[in-house]
Amino acid sequence: MRTTNLYAPTLRETPAEAEVRSHQLMLRAGMIRKAAGGLYTYLPLAWRTIKKIEQIIREEMDEAGGQEISMPIVQPAEIWQESGRWSVYGDEMFRVRDRHGRQFCLGPTHEEMVTTLVRDEVRSYKQLPLMLYQIQNKYRDEIRPRFGLMRGREFIMKDLYSFDKDEEGMNLSYQKMYDAYTRIYTRMGLDFRPVEADNGAIGGGHSHEFTVLAAAGESNIAYCDSCDYAASDEKAELNVIRALEEEAKPLEKVATPDAHTIELVAECLNLPLEKCIKAVAFQTDTDELVLAFVRGDHEVNDVKVINLIEGAIELRMADEAVIEAAGGCPGFMSPIGIKEGTRIVVDQTVMEMYNACAGANEKDMHYINVNPKRDFKDVVVADIRMVKAGDICPRCGGTIKMTRGIEAGQVFTLGTKYSKALGATFLDENGREQPMVMGCYGIGVGRTMAAAVEQNNDENGIIWPKAIAPFEVVVVPVNAKNEEQLQLAESIYAELKKAGVDVLLDDRKDRAGVKFKDADLIGYPLRITVGPKAVAEDVVELKIRRSGETVTAGKADAVQKAL
Ligand code: ATP
Ligand code: MG
Ligand code: MG
Ligand code: MG
Repeated sequence: MRTTNLYAPTLRETPAEAEVRSHQLMLRAGMIRKAAGGLYTYLPLAWRTIKKIEQIIREEMDEAGGQEISMPIVQPAEIWQESGRWSVYGDEMFRVRDRHGRQFCLGPTHEEMVTTLVRDEVRSYKQLPLMLYQIQNKYRDEIRPRFGLMRGREFIMKDLYSFDKDEEGMNLSYQKMYDAYTRIYTRMGLDFRPVEADNGAIGGGHSHEFTVLAAAGESNIAYCDSCDYAASDEKAELNVIRALEEEAKPLEKVATPDAHTIELVAECLNLPLEKCIKAVAFQTDTDELVLAFVRGDHEVNDVKVINLIEGAIELRMADEAVIEAAGGCPGFMSPIGIKEGTRIVVDQTVMEMYNACAGANEKDMHYINVNPKRDFKDVVVADIRMVKAGDICPRCGGTIKMTRGIEAGQVFTLGTKYSKALGATFLDENGREQPMVMGCYGIGVGRTMAAAVEQNNDENGIIWPKAIAPFEVVVVPVNAKNEEQLQLAESIYAELKKAGVDVLLDDRKDRAGVKFKDADLIGYPLRITVGPKAVAEDVVELKIRRSGETVTAGKADAVQKAL
């Protein structure tokens, strides 16, 4: 490829709309352009990187036993109604009607689609395990699309779904995916950590988020300095509390959102900030810890309590869909993950104090027949506190440290949640009908690209890891109007291309300074400069983008070094 033939409109100024480095740099490097909020066009340079990321993902998915398919983006409402998610997914789902008035959505994820695909075809345990994946646009009407590709409303995702005959098989599939993800992020040259994650609303089981470490990340990660424990703060919060529980009775039940969380809660619940300063932690009779944010008003309809199991993740994420699903009615909301009918244990005095009633986590649903004396006891109103650096590691007793990261991928075990709801069964060895045991595994392709930039840049621009750079090498004739320099640059370019190097020739007749600036901004790992000395003395300059180091070499040597 030649720069004269490359559509990469670089910008000297930082666009005001972009808050984070990756967004700023990808706009400036002429890689992406905004079409509307959360909707972006990928220009040629970005698309090259996207294809490289996809290729790495493909190779590792295939290696792990995945088979690539392509499912429709437009999905019929019926399958979502069957799984029960049509009503709970909320405003994040793009919904459309066809000319006959039938309802569809643009797929935010494909559990329903893939489960209904296999339920009609897979009949026997002999057809399992099965892993199907696709790399495709996903649609989520995010409440706050931002940071460019990091949180878009249309974005590229790799999503793989595993089907096994039993839990053991599912865990094996999970491990295969976990290992494949580890290889993927390693191959991309990124500094990442798999962190234990809350599995949110998606279902039971366990989960890891593959998190690219970067200061601009939205996730707080608690990790141990003496073992490999790492968890999202929501999850760590609970683990740490559990560790504390084991250590000391009576329980020190504390739910501790940070200042930012409180702000979000206040905003989401439309409460004055000062009314959101208390968290209540209490236990259910299943021994699960429930955290509640309490508004300190005393009138029934002013009381809004959102309970969250396993930390305040959904609120912290300001996931309005969940809040709406949970918060349509005042009172105690059934926490995600607590089964209907589970008794919630709350103290009578607190009940009276907050005059609360009980509700479920579905809009317009309430628990009936809740009796404060019988069903509620044992409340602790605690000071606000979040897991923090210096806490005890729940695994080894070491010391917790905190860092920030970007969730670039996530793996989940789903169990039989979708197979049961959608009737995806098979006949086992004994001829008995069983629900398939599932897992799901996502990677945000665009977000991974943005995360790579977020992690790898300096004041001059992007510093691409070689494996996902739009081009590995740029050859720059200092003066492209000089026929000899251009010819020499052309020959280096041709040789590298022949050797399979992904190389770009900056054949523009612009000043060298302009070309150097662009090379730094776009961030090609290696720049080969061909100037007058190259012509006169066979001295070519190689500049390594990451270290800024320059070395000189004869042409033949330079080509060797660039391979
Ligand atoms: P988040 O917590 O950031 O909202 P998520 O947990 O909702 O993400 P998943 O459902 O786990 O996302 O989707 C799998 C992957 O898809 C994520 O790990 C992330 O890399 C990517 N992803 C999710 N939402 C977006 C988005 N709005 N824009 C870009 N990538 C996204
Ligand atoms: Mg989300
Ligand atoms: Mg998430
Ligand atoms: Mg996720």
